[in-house]
Amino acid sequence: MGPRPNLLTRRVAGVASTTLALLLSTAAVGVVPAASAFSAAPSGACAEPADSHANARVKPGAGAKHEPNELTAKQVRERDADLAASLRERANFRAGAGATTLATVTIPVVVHVIQRDSTRAGGNIPDSMITSQISVLNQAYAGGTGGAATAFAFRLDKINRVTNPSWYPIVDGSSAERSMKSSLRVGGKSTLNIYLGELSDDLLGWATFPQRKLSSMDGVVVLNESLPGGSATNYNQGDTGTHEIGHWLNLYHTFQGGCGGSGDGVSDTPAEASPAYQCPTGRDTCSATGLDPITNFMDYTYDSCMYQFTPGQASRMLTAWNAYRAA
Ligand SMILES: [Zn+2]
Repeated sequence: MGPRPNLLTRRVAGVASTTLALLLSTAAVGVVPAASAFSAAPSGACAEPADSHANARVKPGAGAKHEPNELTAKQVRERDADLAASLRERANFRAGAGATTLATVTIPVVVHVIQRDSTRAGGNIPDSMITSQISVLNQAYAGGTGGAATAFAFRLDKINRVTNPSWYPIVDGSSAERSMKSSLRVGGKSTLNIYLGELSDDLLGWATFPQRKLSSMDGVVVLNESLPGGSATNYNQGDTGTHEIGHWLNLYHTFQGGCGGSGDGVSDTPAEASPAYQCPTGRDTCSATGLDPITNFMDYTYDSCMYQFTPGQASRMLTAWNAYRAA
């Protein structure tokens, strides 16, 4: 690996977290998934999948010591079992009601812009960056950047600006995050709530997975300067949003589970031993067929390097939508 790229320096809040995070790391060197650090689910989490928290995206290096982003094998098993149970329930319901599953979905989006004050450094990003972000999402999920077309489109319903210094930066797993989300979240399971702000721990973002019971924590948190035209060098084309919403629609990282087992639960994403950063050429970390899926939105590469979902991921997202989020 080359020298550490000149990344944004941000305060490390040192928060223990159960979320999966997309860290802004510099290089994969020395990044050891600290699974044990977050395999201990918070007490009371047994009734719900342990990962009701999120998946995140991170820059290389920074924050890797407590990378909250990967699921343990146990968490994956719990999620898989829950999905199967939810699908059975829905199938029974449909058999009675004669309903059909959805093939295309337009997701209503509410964006909460968290600000410390009225300055750009304090989180006051322009509306134009938000509308650009929605365009990036629509392109990505339609296959317009080269990947599979998914069922999903996004419609911006509202921009909600909130000035509250105690919520800025947004600290992953904090009581302030809970307070923020319980105060601001709107809509049902099918409404996507996006929270924008400066983030703790060098994170680019994090998201919750779908759950049968709607939680006030449900939603996606994204670094404000990762939106198109933002200042997060190499991560400012809007693909953090694309990635986090992938988690919100039940996608795992392409490196989930490493080379063994069921990996990310998607058959057409080649297995990958660990996250890929920057934009490596010819990376092939598992003996199974296929180069590492470094251009997939669910890896950790630069925005300029990731541009696709696979048909298998599109299918997994639609299945999850019909199991969890459809009305
Ligand atoms: Zn992630």
